[in-house]
Amino acid sequence: MADLLDDVPQRALAIYAHPDDPDISCGGTLAKWARAGSQIHVVVCAAGDKGSTDPEADRDEIVARRADEARQAAAILKVVEVHLLGRPDGEFDNDLALREELVTLMRRHRPEVVVCPDPTAVFFGSHHYNHRDHRTVGWAVLDSAAPAAGSSHYFPDAGPACPIPEALLSGSLEPNVWVDIESTIDQKLLAVARHESQLADANDWFASALRDGAQHAGRQAGVRYAEAFRRVQLT
Ligand SMILES: [Zn+2]
Repeated sequence: MADLLDDVPQRALAIYAHPDDPDISCGGTLAKWARAGSQIHVVVCAAGDKGSTDPEADRDEIVARRADEARQAAAILKVVEVHLLGRPDGEFDNDLALREELVTLMRRHRPEVVVCPDPTAVFFGSHHYNHRDHRTVGWAVLDSAAPAAGSSHYFPDAGPACPIPEALLSGSLEPNVWVDIESTIDQKLLAVARHESQLADANDWFASALRDGAQHAGRQAGVRYAEAFRRVQLT
């Protein structure tokens, strides 16, 4: 039987690219941990400014709307705080400045686990290509977590060094742990539904696709609904 992850970290940091990514990728897990008393912080690296198909859309308005949606979703999951780094969609790299910002947040919040996209997942079958921002953020988080956050020789002005014990990578082609989210799948779907700007009229369709995905992961783990991760020990 697949490995069910029952440990609840006291502190966790979920770091993703776009405002709706954390809720879609690991919202059930974050809600479950928060309910059990974890202090969860979410970091959203990109502003979400290109999340519109309307060429006339005002990008500043999109950014403000998506920030508001992210905060509403975080409140549903009982996340302590959402940190919006505001990089323009598709126009940022895994560079020193981003890693310093991530290391600063890691050292300030001292998470036992960071949750982020699996940057090695590029093609999902023949119908889906993973967004550059997801891959960029995945690598940036891993590079920041180990060795940078735990070594005072990296970014000495970013706070006292803090080793990050492990990462859980979502959207992985090689999952090795599953979190049972039966108790929080409804909370996850409610959080995702807050991202109205991204859903247009597709809310019902998307909710059922997410439920199907959680069922599929659940079957692999022998539970009704799950989120799958690739767990990597960093220290
Ligand atoms: Zn995204």
